[in-house]
Amino acid sequence: MAPASLDDVLCGATAKLRAAGVENPAREARLLAELVVCRDDLRTLSAGETRHLATLVDRRTRREPFAQIAGVREFWSLDFEVTQDTLIPRPDSETLIECCLDRFEHHPPARILDLGTGSGCLVVTLLVTWTGSTGIGVDVSERACAVAARNARRHGVGDRAWVMCGDWAAALDSTFDLVVVNPPYVPSDELAGLDPEVALHEPGVAIDGGEDGYACYRRIVPRLATLLSNDGKAVVEHGPDQRDGLAVLAGDSGLCVVGEVDDYGGRHRVLVLAHRGP
Ligand code: GLN
Repeated sequence: MAPASLDDVLCGATAKLRAAGVENPAREARLLAELVVCRDDLRTLSAGETRHLATLVDRRTRREPFAQIAGVREFWSLDFEVTQDTLIPRPDSETLIECCLDRFEHHPPARILDLGTGSGCLVVTLLVTWTGSTGIGVDVSERACAVAARNARRHGVGDRAWVMCGDWAAALDSTFDLVVVNPPYVPSDELAGLDPEVALHEPGVAIDGGEDGYACYRRIVPRLATLLSNDGKAVVEHGPDQRDGLAVLAGDSGLCVVGEVDDYGGRHRVLVLAHRGP
């Protein structure tokens, strides 16, 4: 088979992606092509490359997320491996990182805990930034734990990051200076209405927050009181409408809200919790 002109192939791919409801189909077609070939003089595709691209385009028309097809997603300017077992790191969660860096600017936390670590993007990013800190990432999914451990090694912090499979903090009996949490918080009946990329392909266990979205917070927040060191802070991501409910839960658990941050879209997204003063 003769080489195909890239323009023709992209045109066909764009039409398929558009018909499948993918946003920015021309851009996505080009990005998928870049996964197949990375030459500067990209004018033609070999028969093999054309076939390879066609399989990627088919996956994308089934609304598989681009990050899962690429196997990687950038977060805080670092590339993280992602699979179907891990939530794809969101720009919203960069708000959480920014908040941690602000809070601990002059005094990095020695010990960090990341509950529901998934790809490990939170704890790994923090350990890359704070080279004297150690961290533990916990996830209920063994496969997610394997991805998190690979991401820790990928970014050179494998010797300071421990990844454990477990039920939140059930197996932990120590205290931490910083606990970061991005638990599943979407109410169950809203899942079906999310983009197909999320609803069909991302792990429900990482997104489904139970009937009212608070199921995991009810497990985690009361436990924070025993997990935080005296000056420790918990930095917790939440859905835009959950700020007040989460603050009440924190109050009931002997904690207080010492900070809050909106995401880049101006929605409530992160609360900072600490022990209540004497
Ligand atoms: N923010 C995610 C979303 O938009 C949900 C993440 C979560 O539940 N932790 O789908």
